[in-house]
Amino acid sequence: MARLWFRSALLPDGWAEGVALAIADGRIAAVARGVPAAAGDERAEIGLPGLANLHSHAFQRGMAGLAETRGPDSFWTWREVMYRFVDRMDPDDAEAIAAQAYVEMLETGFTRVGEFHYLHHDPAGAPYADRAEMAARIAAAAQTTGIGLTLLPVFYAHGGFGAGRGAPPAPPSPGQRRFLSDRDGFAALMRDSRRAVAGLPDAVVGLAPHSLRAATLDDIAAILPLAEGGPVHIHAAEQVREVEECLAATGARPVDLLLDRAGVDRRWCLIHATHMTAPERRRFAASGAVAGLCPITEANLGDGVFPLAAFAGEEGSFGIGSDSNVLISAAAELRLLEYAQRLTGRARAVAATPAHPSTGRALFEACIAGGGRALGAPGGLAVGHSADIVSLDPDHPALAARSRDAWLDGWIFAAREGGVEQVWRAGRRVVADGRHVAREAVAARFRATLARLAA
Ligand SMILES: [Zn+2]
Repeated sequence: MARLWFRSALLPDGWAEGVALAIADGRIAAVARGVPAAAGDERAEIGLPGLANLHSHAFQRGMAGLAETRGPDSFWTWREVMYRFVDRMDPDDAEAIAAQAYVEMLETGFTRVGEFHYLHHDPAGAPYADRAEMAARIAAAAQTTGIGLTLLPVFYAHGGFGAGRGAPPAPPSPGQRRFLSDRDGFAALMRDSRRAVAGLPDAVVGLAPHSLRAATLDDIAAILPLAEGGPVHIHAAEQVREVEECLAATGARPVDLLLDRAGVDRRWCLIHATHMTAPERRRFAASGAVAGLCPITEANLGDGVFPLAAFAGEEGSFGIGSDSNVLISAAAELRLLEYAQRLTGRARAVAATPAHPSTGRALFEACIAGGGRALGAPGGLAVGHSADIVSLDPDHPALAARSRDAWLDGWIFAAREGGVEQVWRAGRRVVADGRHVAREAVAARFRATLARLAA
């Protein structure tokens, strides 16, 4: 049985010194504290649980930075660029791009990804011979890189809300053809997707109606049993225009509608939920569902700012995701989550709580709990949990002469980059000295793929 030893480690009940984690079958089999390192232990100074990245569209890493030019609109123009980019992507391309994204996630301290996977079909919009070909490529990228995978196959059937109360949903646009399923096709896709990830020992499968734009309440009710108890994710209230169209078509706002009519509970994760009224926000917090916050993407797309201070004060659960993958960094997501609150609320240490007066610690703990729940794989260095572990670099200048919670604040707020030294996933070390063990090979394939797609 392998053993990892940390001079200090963050356990579920707080920091401890001289922590030894025994690992068996990829899981933590025993936790000892106050013990010396033994011969044969893998050693590190500062141990943390790995973070869940609860919302990713891996393929979008390939278009990062390509939609930063002036246009007539914001989010909706970006979406057109994305549609053109996916037009040419084949399964090899998708696998290469996902592997690059997952290497970057692991190098910054994310150890599991929730892949909100909607690029299902071939460039003509027809299912591949293996309907779950693209899901299999996501699984292959997870296998190559070692990241934990929670696959969320996306149900996407419509082009938008109906024009007016009770009108049928808008038909899909040509740019959406690779995403589309009817209910029977989606049931087959779910079945084949479970098979596609079967080779990953601890993969989790949930499902994701894309949004209320792309799935009606009747669709959602029909597909929910296919989750078989796994997590359910949906984009909600990301854009003001989406809220207005939802109100016009249904008489209700998106989060209200989901809470009233879709059976949202602790199994659910509402991605973004940026635009809510105060009563909506309070009801969401009380539902136990997780808010999936993607601060860098929300900033990049000009979505708006989630009401974190109020929501957390109402004991709402939240976690972070890298969504469009325009820039992948766990610390930067946490930093921007807090800074957006400071800028809009003209206050400091907004996420800090009486239990965790350190902002970094409060954010980190909340995202370990919320992210783990949203991905169906609890986080934290505890017996029975996956051995998903990150060590910080005690020699990083931002961590010098600090200890415990101040390490987290230094990593999140004061490190320009780096800070993560080693990462173990399911007990296997996949990042050493800040570099993924397959970084060069994965990056070479990624560069070749982007060159081909740009040609
Ligand atoms: Zn998204």
